[in-house]
Amino acid sequence: MNVFHLSAECYPVAKAGGLGDVVGALPKYLCRSGAKASVVLPYYDRKFVRENTFEKVFEGSGKLGHRRFDFYVLREETNKLGFELYLINIPGLLDRQEIYGYPDETEQFVSFQLAFLEWMVQSGEEPDIIHCHDHHTGLIPFLVSNSYRYNSLKGIPTVCTIHNGEYQGWFGWDKISYLPEIDLSRSGLLDWGGCINSLAAAVKCCWNFTTVSPSYLEELSYRSNGLENLFRMERQKGTGIINGIDTEVWDPQKDPFITAHYNADTVTEGKQANKKALCKEFKLKLKNPLIVFIGRLVGEKGADLLPAIVDRVCSVYKDRVNFLILGSGEPEIELELSALQVKHQGQFGLFIGYDEALAHRIYAGADFIIMPSRVEPCGLNQLYSLRYGTMPVVNSTGGLKDTVVDILTDEGYGIRFNQAATVDAVEALGRAIALFSETKRMKELQKRMMSLDFSWDRSAAEYLDLYNSLTKR
Ligand code: ADP
Repeated sequence: MNVFHLSAECYPVAKAGGLGDVVGALPKYLCRSGAKASVVLPYYDRKFVRENTFEKVFEGSGKLGHRRFDFYVLREETNKLGFELYLINIPGLLDRQEIYGYPDETEQFVSFQLAFLEWMVQSGEEPDIIHCHDHHTGLIPFLVSNSYRYNSLKGIPTVCTIHNGEYQGWFGWDKISYLPEIDLSRSGLLDWGGCINSLAAAVKCCWNFTTVSPSYLEELSYRSNGLENLFRMERQKGTGIINGIDTEVWDPQKDPFITAHYNADTVTEGKQANKKALCKEFKLKLKNPLIVFIGRLVGEKGADLLPAIVDRVCSVYKDRVNFLILGSGEPEIELELSALQVKHQGQFGLFIGYDEALAHRIYAGADFIIMPSRVEPCGLNQLYSLRYGTMPVVNSTGGLKDTVVDILTDEGYGIRFNQAATVDAVEALGRAIALFSETKRMKELQKRMMSLDFSWDRSAAEYLDLYNSLTKR
């Protein structure tokens, strides 16, 4: 089984969120199960690329409308990530430092997809499966089945995984000329709501789409930023497969970023040492419970609720609780949180920005992580937290619903609430703060959390089953 994964992100080359984590781990576990899984990314001018050696394996050319471009494909020489990593470079279009945020994002990702297909056609390479991730690679299933130019790839099954259905890769029909000659009678497959919608095209044209949790698959039919009817109609083509975590990267016994290593037996002392360092760094009080948030400061994550949640919790539990937030996003939220840092000095720490090492230190040192998400396709933060013995306090949505069991049940190990609203989150955090004083129970629950298995082995096997069912068709 030879699978090519196409994505905008892949840890540790380029990561902005969960997509990067998944594409950096799933292929590794697929390879361990006997498949050959490779990752194809746009070239980025970033640390990993500068510090590793690559060989040029292909040179070709393509066309983005009237604009002719030359491209080349690099392969990381050592396979140190556990899979073959390819980077496609189109000087001037793909050799960027950031992953997202450029005004010509359409040109960036359309040219990436075209260069990949040109590479396949011009080199005669024929994978068994092409696996696309999110809208950045969503045109590929359409192009493979409807563009004359890529006829030779037509029989290759395409899979599309939806990590986040909120972003869909929209662009106007005025840019249809970017695509090579297509069967015009099929051009409607590109359309949703009067514009070209890359994610909608992927769902319509791929052989099978997957979502990163079963609950998210159900939710897309009634909440998917305009694609609800599409998901309802294509439901039979969808499979929900919960994400795993890379237990080698996220391992409190070996994690190079954290202050003290620990396992389920040494969780109390281990977490205490990590918490001590973190409290010192952010001038917080070691004796109080430490509640944290890590993530993008956007509405999807319920981050607009954070200022009110922090203010309320820090006021009601004055000098009895610590809050720490790591994230960046909407400027208003950043500003409101910054103001609270002054008001709740000594109780509330804040780091605006993206910092991978700090995220690890926080998972290791925190007691609770709050996730008031409105939309959470899978959510990885709660899985990393569980692995580090940090209790998730989550809104019951998407993957959070599938992975967190409330401590009100016998087998529980987390705290859930039923609405992305300040009052619900504050009430749930009240339960967390009360639990913190029950030292013995807290310790038992930490052990339970750390013994859970969210590794990729099971989920990778589900992807393999899916690939096998498609290649047999
Ligand atoms: P998303 O919707 O953002 O992809 P996920 O829960 O699937 O959310 O994945 C988030 C990933 O990004 C986790 O690995 C988390 O630790 C990381 N992350 C998010 N924000 C930051 C940040 N500001 N600094 C470091 N890591 C971050």
